[in-house]
Amino acid sequence: MVTKRLLFFFPRCETEKPIVYHLVKDFDLEINIFRAKVTPDEEGYLVLDLTGNEANIDKGIAWLVGFGVEVREQDKGLRWDQERCVSCGNCIPHCPTKALRFEEDKRTLGFDGAKCIVCLNCIPNCPYGACSSMF
Ligand code: SF4
Ligand code: SF4
Repeated sequence: MVTKRLLFFFPRCETEKPIVYHLVKDFDLEINIFRAKVTPDEEGYLVLDLTGNEANIDKGIAWLVGFGVEVREQDKGLRWDQERCVSCGNCIPHCPTKALRFEEDKRTLGFDGAKCIVCLNCIPNCPYGACSSMF
């Protein structure tokens, strides 16, 4: 059993499909939804954990991609604005996964989206507004 945290982006025409139902029923996956949003244009965003047999997760993702859903492993909805970031380091102790950490030069902040678990701790702990959420 493995768990993958992913962001799904649904184009307008696909927001009505019962995808959670199909992922559970057809691919034997457990679903844990963290965040969801439907925009005024009726596009949908979903951040969720998929748990199950790795092959079934891959098949479920392939099924989603097949009808136009974008599945993003690196992007989970947290936005880090490099232009705003002054590398003060204030966010680092508040990031539980080290998604925000100093680069090898030990002075420049870097963001690794694959490690982000969307806890949002960094947002109130960035004095410069460099961290924000698309949700
Ligand atoms: S949302 Fe949480 S895990 Fe992601 S970068 Fe911010 S503090 Fe780190
Ligand atoms: S707190 Fe904000 S400005 Fe400071 S290093 Fe983190 S993201 Fe950059």
